[in-house]
Amino acid sequence: MRKLAEACERIAATTKKLEKVSIVADYLRSRTTEEAAVSAVFLSGRPFPMWQEATLQVGGSLLWRVVQELSGKSEQELTAAYRKLGDLGAVAGEILPSHPGADLSALEVQRRFRQIAVARGPAAKTALVRELLSQVTPLEAKYIVKIMTGDLRIGLKESLVEEAIAKAYGGTLGEVQRANMLLGDIGETLQLAAGGKLGEGRMRLFHPLGFMLASPAESAEDALSYFHNAVVEDKYDGIRAQAHCAGDEVRIFSRTRDEITESFPELLDALAGLPQDAVLDGEIVAWSYLAAESNEAGRALPFSALQQRLGRKKVSEEMMQRVPVVYLAFDVIYAGGELLIDRPLRERAKILDELLAMERTPVKPRSRNDQGQLIFEPPEPETNARVIRAPVFQASSAEELDQLFEAAQARGNEGLMVKDPESVYTPGRRGKSWLKMKRELATLDVVVTAVEYGHGKRIRVLSDYTFAVRDADRLVNIGKAYSGLTDVEIAEMTRWFLEHMVEDQGFRLIVEPKIVLEVAFNNMMKSDRHNSGYALRFPRIVRLRPDKLPEEVDTIERAREIYEKQKN
Ligand code: AMP
Repeated sequence: MRKLAEACERIAATTKKLEKVSIVADYLRSRTTEEAAVSAVFLSGRPFPMWQEATLQVGGSLLWRVVQELSGKSEQELTAAYRKLGDLGAVAGEILPSHPGADLSALEVQRRFRQIAVARGPAAKTALVRELLSQVTPLEAKYIVKIMTGDLRIGLKESLVEEAIAKAYGGTLGEVQRANMLLGDIGETLQLAAGGKLGEGRMRLFHPLGFMLASPAESAEDALSYFHNAVVEDKYDGIRAQAHCAGDEVRIFSRTRDEITESFPELLDALAGLPQDAVLDGEIVAWSYLAAESNEAGRALPFSALQQRLGRKKVSEEMMQRVPVVYLAFDVIYAGGELLIDRPLRERAKILDELLAMERTPVKPRSRNDQGQLIFEPPEPETNARVIRAPVFQASSAEELDQLFEAAQARGNEGLMVKDPESVYTPGRRGKSWLKMKRELATLDVVVTAVEYGHGKRIRVLSDYTFAVRDADRLVNIGKAYSGLTDVEIAEMTRWFLEHMVEDQGFRLIVEPKIVLEVAFNNMMKSDRHNSGYALRFPRIVRLRPDKLPEEVDTIERAREIYEKQKN
């Protein structure tokens, strides 16, 4: 681990990409393949390979407490160091007492990470983190903490590690990228490269691939400037999900490639028994089934409805009935033994249509009871109706697209996804082959009540703002936003906030409620995170509103109205 930490210091010291790649390549070559493989994962800023389920579940405050305890420093000293350096790893490197260390290898560090991941409860985790950090040098601790927090901050992206692997072991960059994309494991990719077997990298069922991402389009004209004949689908406001299906085994992965199968037991029966093994791409949405006489299958409910279903390991029957979900499939990545990512969308769409239209192999339906045990029960009539092929439209003019946009909004969806029928599926990449057109966002005028120092290059400025709306004669917080202002504005605001501080809480300053902002957001949720009872999804600052007085900010009633409106 010492060698790896030293390499990281050298990587951080140069801004030149080629030099960074050379340092990584030299370091990797100097280690055994096994150690280099683990190091490659660490150098991508992760404790475990991308596809693996394991997560440390160690929060910043736990790490903070351990670092403070081992350093013997006061809270104020630690806060001052944090403000100066901007991340807890760097703080650990600077304030932990000098120590010869037990010379743990990167492999040993990863073994410890696994122990931490499986340990239950903060006390057990704290003990293991403390043990690990007390056995390493401050420099090693610096990088161990950075890996644990998931951000190395040395200007090294996974793409540069891929370049370094190509440089260290041969093989073209394209081969390394493809193997890594298919395996979701940069360590395993390195092992293949070292053995001259990059071509053997294959997609594996139940190992999630990256998701193809979309770029925003400003308008219908803008969208059609990239391609003329567009495949158009509604943009559903749910969560992206990749479904891996083989007979009656089904697993579902989120956009962060975490497994979320357990949260949606009712989708498993619906996805089981496809006639071919397949990996589908789609969106899980909360769904309202319409009356049988309606010719619509139903419609998606806003994200706030789905929210109640998220993050649950065990889902009660009652919850499944109260908030039913469906899987809206819009793409297929793998089917019948063939990886389909290099086929154009129009072909994949046809394969998806056929796959979902084919008769299912009957499987024993399963469901979970409240204790999480698997129970068997008679099939429900609408089981298959829980997997719906997202309806596809065509548009070749801005007028057509605008009409589709209105219709999508009338159905309660966020907007449109406009896709190039000739495009291949590019996992993990955001290109111009998929464009998203979203609804005009509601904005709120709010007043800033508290501010925090930012991260990274914003560590010395107050850039994170908590803001409130009015509730009769008091202010109630409704959200927190980081982005939207220019560096100059942030610097000016920092000066103002420091002069108008009401209370210094270390990390956070309570400030006089004078600064009015206009904030945009994607939608509003009920939440007890803030005392207004609401929270905003993806809030961003549109502009400062020096023309408005704090008395003029929006009220909780208006927030409630927006919330109610988006529910319809
Ligand atoms: P955004 O999250 O705003 O970047 O928009 C992209 C997201 O829209 C995707 O990651 C999906 O979760 C979601 N989405 C909803 N409907 C579709 C669709 N028909 N095709 C692709 N993505 C969709």
